[in-house]
Amino acid sequence: MTSASYVMEHGGGLFASAAFLFDGWHRDVALRWNAAGELTHVTPDATRDARFPRARGPVIPGMPNLHSHAFQRAMAGLTETRGNPADSFWSWRTLMYRFADRLTPFHLEAISRHLYIEMLKAGYTSVCEFHYVHHAANGKPYANPAEHAERIIGAAQDAGIGLTLLPVLYQYSGFGEQPPLAHQARFISSPEWILDLLARLRRDHPTHGALCYGAAPHSLRAVSEASLNALVRGLRHDDLDAPLHIHVAEQTKEVDDCIAAHGQRPVQWLFDRQTVDARWCLVHATHLSNAEYAAIAKSGATVGLCPTTEANLGDGFFDAPRYLADGGRWGIGSDSNVGVSVRAELRLLEYGQRLLHRSRNALASVAEPAVADGLYRAAVTGGAAATGREVAGLRVGQRADFCVLDADHPAVMDRTPSQILSGFVFCEHGGEPVRDVYTGGRAVVVDGYHAQQDSAFADYRVALKDLLS
Ligand SMILES: [Zn+2]
Repeated sequence: MTSASYVMEHGGGLFASAAFLFDGWHRDVALRWNAAGELTHVTPDATRDARFPRARGPVIPGMPNLHSHAFQRAMAGLTETRGNPADSFWSWRTLMYRFADRLTPFHLEAISRHLYIEMLKAGYTSVCEFHYVHHAANGKPYANPAEHAERIIGAAQDAGIGLTLLPVLYQYSGFGEQPPLAHQARFISSPEWILDLLARLRRDHPTHGALCYGAAPHSLRAVSEASLNALVRGLRHDDLDAPLHIHVAEQTKEVDDCIAAHGQRPVQWLFDRQTVDARWCLVHATHLSNAEYAAIAKSGATVGLCPTTEANLGDGFFDAPRYLADGGRWGIGSDSNVGVSVRAELRLLEYGQRLLHRSRNALASVAEPAVADGLYRAAVTGGAAATGREVAGLRVGQRADFCVLDADHPAVMDRTPSQILSGFVFCEHGGEPVRDVYTGGRAVVVDGYHAQQDSAFADYRVALKDLLS
């Protein structure tokens, strides 16, 4: 049997001189995976099997991206001019709505495909797409209710990135069931509509190793208690383990409005009414009370931190040192996709704390003195939980999703293994130190190049020109 036919039938393998496993860096690691793309062997101090190639640099787990609104990638950089002295998240949102008004299925697919390729090249091997533009212009339903969802699925498949698709329930413009704004017409649905869409998607695009589904009540301001209950109940009936994501406590106005409407802070309100557990991802959770930090950490839910977008939108600071000290679970997302960089998200999370507390290595711990190693491991673990997929790093039974770093890149070259992630996260030398990217054991980026990147860029350019015209 030739090695090529062996790989086709039995999966594949790679031998890494250095690899970042769950318990830290190891040398001479043999990685093997089966034809389904799941790791079957992760063996340190191994001897190389001649059938499998040698990785051309250090190997790190692929990073799950737990929060993305793909279409917003096309408006990155367009809202950085002051419209009035009180520019805020809310004025940004008005522009985002105008932009979303013009989106067609072609635009969404072109933007998503290009974006997902960029994510892969940055080291993200999975994405949770928080998908809320469901209908055609003015809220007119598409003949196929899954029109946009299928565009996203197609883009992810073409790119080769793992996808957790989260159709979003959006009903109201504010607390107290305020009627939606005209610009929100394309987002509006009901729990029944979302559950029907999920049933249709599971039927036509069944879950597999690289694809799964969850649901996302947009935020407490956009759903009612009754519709939140109906969505959660319906989702659990159809898929007990499906992830549930929600934007929560991103803005102080949202917290104030929640207190005015319900007499409680958003996270407190949610915990009093739902069984929030490890299947939940609370996106942002920026403005929390002490009790709320503790409650989330105890629940096992993942907090979805999106430091670049949160900085871009002026959201505020998540108290990461406190939450980490409580053992809280978290991961990172690219959210508005104003930036697509694993390294920048982790770096900004740490730098925010350094600036705030005038200290260094703020998110290190006694157990994990190397900040980057601890952040990277935690973000993979939390991100994996948020995806609802088996993508929790280089461990037997998980997907063979990983990156081979460029051993000649100045950020990582000639370092001992324990210095590699520090270089990867904190050292800017221009260019991406990610060389090869594997998802489900398949090399989707080779030498920093994705086979579809040129055609995806051409389509993206057409879509952008159209949207900006
Ligand atoms: Zn978001």
